Amino acid sequence: MIPLKEAQAHVFERIAPLRSMAVPLDECVGLATSQPVFSEESIPPFDNTAVDGFALRFAQVAKASADAPVLVPVAGTVAAGDPPRELPLGSALRIMTGAVIPAGADAVVMVEDTEEAGGGGVKVLRPVRSGENIRVAGSDIAAGSLLFPERTVLGAVHLGVLASAGYVRVPVHRRARVGVISTGSELVDEARPLRPGEIRDSNRHSLRAILSSERVEVVDLGVVPDDEEALRAAFLGPSSQLDAIVTSGGVSVGDFDYTKKVLREISGGEMRWMQVAIRPAKPFAFGLVNGVPLFGLPGNPVSALVSFELFVRPAIRKMHGHGDIFDPILSVRAANSYRRHADGRVHYARALLSAEANGSLAVRSLEGQGSHMLHEMARSNALVICPDGNGYAEGDVVEVLPLGPAAPAR
Ligand code: AMP
Ligand code: MG
Repeated sequence: MIPLKEAQAHVFERIAPLRSMAVPLDECVGLATSQPVFSEESIPPFDNTAVDGFALRFAQVAKASADAPVLVPVAGTVAAGDPPRELPLGSALRIMTGAVIPAGADAVVMVEDTEEAGGGGVKVLRPVRSGENIRVAGSDIAAGSLLFPERTVLGAVHLGVLASAGYVRVPVHRRARVGVISTGSELVDEARPLRPGEIRDSNRHSLRAILSSERVEVVDLGVVPDDEEALRAAFLGPSSQLDAIVTSGGVSVGDFDYTKKVLREISGGEMRWMQVAIRPAKPFAFGLVNGVPLFGLPGNPVSALVSFELFVRPAIRKMHGHGDIFDPILSVRAANSYRRHADGRVHYARALLSAEANGSLAVRSLEGQGSHMLHEMARSNALVICPDGNGYAEGDVVEVLPLGPAAPAR
């Protein structure tokens, strides 16, 4: 067996970021910038008012109070979108949130601090400081400044910032096209009753869904039986149009694990078969087929998904140019004990991460830890990383790898 870190290093060393392209802004969510992105424009582009109120010179109302309001004549109204105006000396201009500060004004009194005076005037009930309620040009982003460094994964807020700065297309690493295959002569993916010995294919459906959530363009390559010719055709056929292939099944030591044999041949000996010192997901294969990275995941559904989390998800993130390819590991109090025997492997126990009554996080390992128990895994939202040994006790602080967005406690 080899340590997980060594297996991961072998894989990630052979993965490179995909090329850069200018992608329409609204298609960039989840993709990473391929170069630093600057703003040519200032945001806001001009000094504007943060409130509805009256633009004036602060010195005009320095002595204003509720008991002794200062009466100021109002010379007109400025709305958001109006061209810049000039403030007539000794007057105020009624002004709406987002409108340009009139030339000559240095503060805005909010409407709540005034009273209508009739006759085209306003009573100001409170003094204002110089610059009060003015949002200065460039106070969020100065023209010429860096918006995002290279390798920033763009989310909803980033898209808003880029839109504010006038971006229509953004330089990002392009999305990976990844083929997904399930191998096994027992697998059925049709709506019909099972014949004896058959089971339904679950891996392709889960794998396609997680890949899509990583913004991958998924190519479904279907179910392939344990047959050398069929496997060869499945792996070689589409590889030239793909950035990676994810296959499950046939990578362990069974008599009909032809996946192994075929991949050894077509990769020119490039394929590496690993026994990774983890549980589940010990068998794992990785290599290049015609230069295309191929991930051979174990067939057991839980193993396939754990293997995906440890190898494929970070590799995809590397292809997509992410700065951080791993999710952060959390240190969390264990809500129950976990018993195991020393077997030379690190266990990734399916678990539920949730907030306790006092608001702090706790993690509870689930009952069913069999690598075929996918239904139990559906209840989990995290993996507890349990080092080799006898397990841990309730109340111990343990390392946790969250899986996707934390699900609510059930
Ligand atoms: P294998 O890695 O091919 O030896 O498969 C290990 C176990 O996982 C066997 O019980 C298979 O029937 C099962 N299995 C393999 N592939 C799938 C799949 N795509 N969906 C569900 N179970 C699978
Ligand atoms: Mg099999």
